Amino acid sequence: MSPRSDGDRRPYRGHLSVGLDVGGTKILGVLLDAEARVLGSVRLPTVTGAAGVIDTAARAVEQLVHAAGVRVSALAAVGVGIPGVVDPRTGRIEHAVNVGIHESVALGPHLAERLGGVLVHVDNDLNAAALGAAHLLDSGTGAGTGTNPRPADLAFLSLGTGLAAGLVLDGAVRRGANGTAGEIGHIPLVADGLPCACGQRGCLERYASGSALDAAWPSRTGRPAPAELFEAAAAGDPDAVRIRDEFASAVASAVRLLVLTCDVARVVIGGGVSAVGTPLLEAVRAALVDQTTGSDFLRSMDLAHRIELAPVGVPVAAIGAALLGAAAPARR
Ligand SMILES: [Zn+2]
Repeated sequence: MSPRSDGDRRPYRGHLSVGLDVGGTKILGVLLDAEARVLGSVRLPTVTGAAGVIDTAARAVEQLVHAAGVRVSALAAVGVGIPGVVDPRTGRIEHAVNVGIHESVALGPHLAERLGGVLVHVDNDLNAAALGAAHLLDSGTGAGTGTNPRPADLAFLSLGTGLAAGLVLDGAVRRGANGTAGEIGHIPLVADGLPCACGQRGCLERYASGSALDAAWPSRTGRPAPAELFEAAAAGDPDAVRIRDEFASAVASAVRLLVLTCDVARVVIGGGVSAVGTPLLEAVRAALVDQTTGSDFLRSMDLAHRIELAPVGVPVAAIGAALLGAAAPARR
């Protein structure tokens, strides 16, 4: 979502919005103004389970508005990004196992009630991250504004416990008929490959996720396995080099899938594994160059230059959640 034009600028009060990125260990929150600038942020440890998540989310909102000297009623909306199966029309979530919610919970309505009736919009966390990344990157390039009206299509590829993507196409989040657009982690990559919890074999996320790295290169010192693996590979350990390159090749396959299905201009790599930083980006770029050798067709797509890392230290998903909330219809 691009900032509103001057002609559409409305009074400041009532156009503040809060975005929350609800994760298994922490809730990150931001307060945005009507121009989508970050006015404040908060980070609280997640209390898992439905009641705990609702309470932590409400406290995050209250702390943000209190710090800004306004009331919750001054908010146009609260947007929530949460991992799991989400129905954005009802605010109901299911199977948000990372935050300890195994049942079906009307998260949006419960949170709205706790916050005095403010509009609450709940969405999948990767949809929020994709929109947040698109907003931040478009702001930097002027895309989606008067001089460059077409926002760049983007995929946010999360390399976390699993692997999945969020999509922003023509400036809007693409959810699909049942909300599963971008669930590319369960596209089979290897025929008769490793069994997956989804019931298939050889799924992409068995080869290109944080859990895949944890299994292939268990942490020796208690630090994150991806960091240890990439350091060992850089130091020349042949097993580490092999595992790193196989992992990078699988991530490159995910990038190729996203570009070939949606022709996204950008694939932003986020999730826990992205903390490896430049060595990860370089490894995936090398794998993309390797995979396109011998194919003029693939080489013409310039895959290696479409990928980038999610901005470090920026609450991308919380910002995207606030934008989703601000854009949500007032009555459903
Ligand atoms: Zn699977």
